[in-house]
Amino acid sequence: MELRIQKLSKRYPNGTQALADVTLAVKPGMFGLLGPNGAGKSTLMRTLATLQEADSGSATLGDVDVLRDKDAVRRLLGYLPQDFGLYPKVSAEELLEHLAVLKGISHAKERKQVVSALLNQTNLHAARKKALGSFSGGMRQRFGIAQALLGNPRLLIVDEPTAGLDPEERVRFHNLLSDIGRDVVVILSTHIVSDVHELCSQMAVLDKGRVLLTGEPQAIISRLTGRIWRRFVEKTELATVQAEHRVISTRLVMGRTRVHVYGESSPGAGFEPVEPDLEDAYFATIKGHVQDAPPPTTQAVG
Ligand code: ADP
Repeated sequence: MELRIQKLSKRYPNGTQALADVTLAVKPGMFGLLGPNGAGKSTLMRTLATLQEADSGSATLGDVDVLRDKDAVRRLLGYLPQDFGLYPKVSAEELLEHLAVLKGISHAKERKQVVSALLNQTNLHAARKKALGSFSGGMRQRFGIAQALLGNPRLLIVDEPTAGLDPEERVRFHNLLSDIGRDVVVILSTHIVSDVHELCSQMAVLDKGRVLLTGEPQAIISRLTGRIWRRFVEKTELATVQAEHRVISTRLVMGRTRVHVYGESSPGAGFEPVEPDLEDAYFATIKGHVQDAPPPTTQAVG
């Protein structure tokens, strides 16, 4: 089952254009939707999850019209929203049972089995009797996946799931996501490049409501080969380097400032070529150096 989004647009009443002609084709597997805060990711996720209306455009999941046939979508959907509220005094098992009833799993024995399997899958079985209010951030997010997987969804939407998790919890959460069936369309919305790098076979970059780029992460990275250059600079030089070059990122590495610059040829003395990674590709895209259409002729710089 494929998710097809065509020219989806949304403007909020205050004038913010959150989505502008978003077109995406998403096959089963993990799809990373990467973009900075405010890009429109949550708006897109909420629209697909039937929680808000678009102004125009279309979306289909298989032959289901996502924007019109909301009941059908809800039967196929699992959703972990960005701000996932829990009843703090209820145990994980109790809430999951309750949500399973709401999902229509009415047979008590079947429900017990489903709940127990999901608690195992998300590594929460030992904590099933504990109040949700006592859960760590990582446990909470794993519980979020457990409830999203109720009813065997064909479309699973997870919105910014790793924000605020410590490194160990992130690894656990990644492992959980990567074990989800290959025939499910999983959309992972995030501003964290490594989430996409570690998990996704397909991705898109969204910024200011527009899709800037789609494709396989590795292919996107490959297009930058020979175009990313590195130099360590003194803090006092940074402004000059930024004015003279197409800087895509600056980062402190062991107390020194490391600059990555985009350029079809060497930007000059002191720069050395680096193997691009997904972070370079992401920042180069956001800064307008990489796009789906053939790149424009190089602008003179310096
Ligand atoms: P992201 O999830 O990528 O951070 P959002 O979809 O939350 O992006 O937001 C996209 C843009 O729409 C932002 O500029 C945000 O401020 C604006 N926005 C989001 N929700 C609303 C709303 N309910 N009313 C007005 N503007 C909104």
